[in-house]
Amino acid sequence: MKGAKSSLMQDLYFKKPSEVQSSASEVQCYICGKGLQDGFRITAKMLSNGMALFCDAHYSLQ
Ligand SMILES: [Zn+2]
Repeated sequence: MKGAKSSLMQDLYFKKPSEVQSSASEVQCYICGKGLQDGFRITAKMLSNGMALFCDAHYSLQ
């Protein structure tokens, strides 16, 4: 039981950094692809098919 518990904690440690990296690189507009690196403010919005990110220009259109 002790062994299983420690391997679970190791799994969490390995997953955390990659999740942070992928979410940072995917912050870009769903329509035009502009992102924070282009100077655009990105806002998340719930659509009928799930969550999507939009820049200021396209957020109001949806
Ligand atoms: Zn856009």
